[in-house]
Amino acid sequence: MEQNKITIERDKKVALVAHDNKKRDLIEWANFNKTLLSHHTVYATGTTGLLLEEELGFPIHKLESGPLGGDQQIGAKIVDGDIDFLIFFWDPLESLSHDPDVKALLRMAVVWNIPIACNRATADFMISSPLMDEEYDRLLPKYDEYRYRMRSG
Ligand code: PGA
Repeated sequence: MEQNKITIERDKKVALVAHDNKKRDLIEWANFNKTLLSHHTVYATGTTGLLLEEELGFPIHKLESGPLGGDQQIGAKIVDGDIDFLIFFWDPLESLSHDPDVKALLRMAVVWNIPIACNRATADFMISSPLMDEEYDRLLPKYDEYRYRMRSG
């Protein structure tokens, strides 16, 4: 399949999400990387966003709480190109009411080829990449072939 390019700008649109048992981890990580994060536009699900705002002291675009649809809102923003970088500390040791939404969000990140970190080590590697300070062309399959696959002729 041929590829399209979508540019991730130097100033990125970053989404931060953490399940309850992972919130402490994410907040510590965000605090450690506060200066770097403040150069980007930061989105978060409701509760994660409230905690981050208290800790970081700069405004976060807060969406709905995850179990109330926040993960789906982030997924939709990925589709619309309004979020291009995801840090998602999901809990591997607990099943949650909104597990289908978690799976859907992870799926959208892969469909749209955005960088995604699901644990602290990956988040450390991602945020210290030189690409954080550069434009980056993410490659996507030419989805028109898929969109119009049922059209005759
Ligand atoms: P929360 O949602 O930030 O509102 O807790 C996170 C999630 O469970 O996806």
